[in-house]
Amino acid sequence: MNTLSSTRRTMTRDEALAWNSDWSPADITAIGENFDRLGAQSFYRTQSNGSITAQDKDGRVLMYVHPGHVTFNKGLAPEGRENPEVEGFDLSTVREKLPIKGEEVLTICPSCFYAMPYTGVCDTCG
Ligand SMILES: [Zn+2]
Repeated sequence: MNTLSSTRRTMTRDEALAWNSDWSPADITAIGENFDRLGAQSFYRTQSNGSITAQDKDGRVLMYVHPGHVTFNKGLAPEGRENPEVEGFDLSTVREKLPIKGEEVLTICPSCFYAMPYTGVCDTCG
């Protein structure tokens, strides 16, 4: 008996690729390509739904898919990735992402250091 079975939920490949509705088509393509590259056969998410684990047919863990990034078991990350020191890559939904072009940058109030609305009038100290 597998003691892990009660804390994880099995998914299909399609369910895994549709897990985060905020993923862009490029994110989904990148994740799917890595599933195929590594021969991922089974997918499951943790009970907290915090990430998806992909395994090969022998049950070896290949990679973890998080809402904003993907990580790989050591040595399995794709060649030529953006940052060779990181065993994974970011998705478009990564939280620490810098403001994209055209997106307004928050202004900080010089008195209270809270972010000001675009009106330029601070909500906190007026
Ligand atoms: Zn203020």
